Amino acid sequence: MSDKATRIIQESLDALMQDETFLPDYEGQERETAFSSLISILSTPNHVHKSFLRVPLQNGEVVRVPAYRVQHNDTMGPYKGGIRFHESVNEDEVSSLASLMTIKNALHDVPFGGGKGGISINPKKFSKKELNLVCKKYVQYFNDVIGPDNDIPAPDAGSGAREMDWMMAEYKNINPGIPYRGSFTGKSVKNSGSLGRREATGKGVYFTLRYLLHDFLKNRRDEFQTSENKFFKTALEFYGRPLTIAVQGFGNVGSVTAMQAHNCDYLDTKVVSVSDQNVTLYNEDGLDVPALLDFSNAHDGDLPTTDEEIHDLGISADVRERDDILSLEVDALFFAALGGVIHKDNVQDVKASILIEGANSPITSEADAILAEQGVVIIPDILANAGGVIVSYSEWLQGRETLYYSEEQVTKILYDKMKETMDRVLPEFFGDPFALRQNCYIHSITSLCTMLHIRGKLY
Ligand code: GLU
Repeated sequence: MSDKATRIIQESLDALMQDETFLPDYEGQERETAFSSLISILSTPNHVHKSFLRVPLQNGEVVRVPAYRVQHNDTMGPYKGGIRFHESVNEDEVSSLASLMTIKNALHDVPFGGGKGGISINPKKFSKKELNLVCKKYVQYFNDVIGPDNDIPAPDAGSGAREMDWMMAEYKNINPGIPYRGSFTGKSVKNSGSLGRREATGKGVYFTLRYLLHDFLKNRRDEFQTSENKFFKTALEFYGRPLTIAVQGFGNVGSVTAMQAHNCDYLDTKVVSVSDQNVTLYNEDGLDVPALLDFSNAHDGDLPTTDEEIHDLGISADVRERDDILSLEVDALFFAALGGVIHKDNVQDVKASILIEGANSPITSEADAILAEQGVVIIPDILANAGGVIVSYSEWLQGRETLYYSEEQVTKILYDKMKETMDRVLPEFFGDPFALRQNCYIHSITSLCTMLHIRGKLY
């Protein structure tokens, strides 16, 4: 589990321990015992499954690929979380990500626990046939621990609907007769997936900014005018103003977020920069995001990297170093790539006033404390990027009923849920000494603890 998550869980529990209205049945020694069980339950995963998938490649070589499924906590429901396909995947990272899923699902009242999977490969270096085999092997090795009522994987960085389709097919083969549609979410629409699932995370990420700066402040800004709370002071400076936007990462999350911003959904937003694993592109007058999306769709997810490619595309943009996006003078910077990109050595270069965590854990613990102290508005991952799992829940339900919602219905489910959570965490945050991230953790941990108490698990 990451230092940041452990620290925040510990601080949240310390705060809750002082609150007499929280778990009032527990006093004295019993209270101490309950809180120490809570910290151990929340900071350690229930199960860590690890295997080396044996994959024969097309060139005759046989590789052993490290693969994981970590089941962090199932208090609120079956374990749930994506499978990351990336070279850097390791047990610690997957465990941290699994714990974030527990907290994220509890925050949004999604009746799932937290889990995460990972396969340590660079998918771009594998052929389609080889990747198909990797997916099948993953299901064969972890078949006993996953399943529609036990642990339901979904896409994450490096995976998508295609991989989920292949995995569900293998699950169905191995387990004839089991209702298989709920065994994986994020599948393609033709294969019992949900309309709107692919766009859900990116749309939800943008929605959090839009909801904070438009709907929420529209109705309540008078209450916050005199607030000393740094978060709201900064947010109010941007109310009703045009915003310049940068989006780090142009995959499934970043490209959708950038399109939302390009289309100015409720906000006057101008996308001046986007980036991917190779490059940052910048245009102070605004980038042609649809043209970049077409390019990326035609080039295996990559953005153009040369002036020539930009010229051929008929757009204008400066080509810069990959990480330049992190230090641009923009109003809002969306993170939609991997974790740990803002750390103690580059935090002083961040100039954006609003940071939105579309990725999981993009800001390290030290950097997070520095930015919050400076009054930078940070919309934390567990709040901002829950759109994927919210629509996964809807997909899981649709699969069980063999009934399918329209895209409008799905988008409404997504926005209603995110609005409900923001209406819960934002007002209570006002006047609170904590950063929004911590406030979200307190909400989430309160729900988890209440459930553990009801079930008599704190003695
Ligand atoms: N991988 C996504 C996340 O980190 C989605 C998980 C899911 O849909 O289960 O939230």
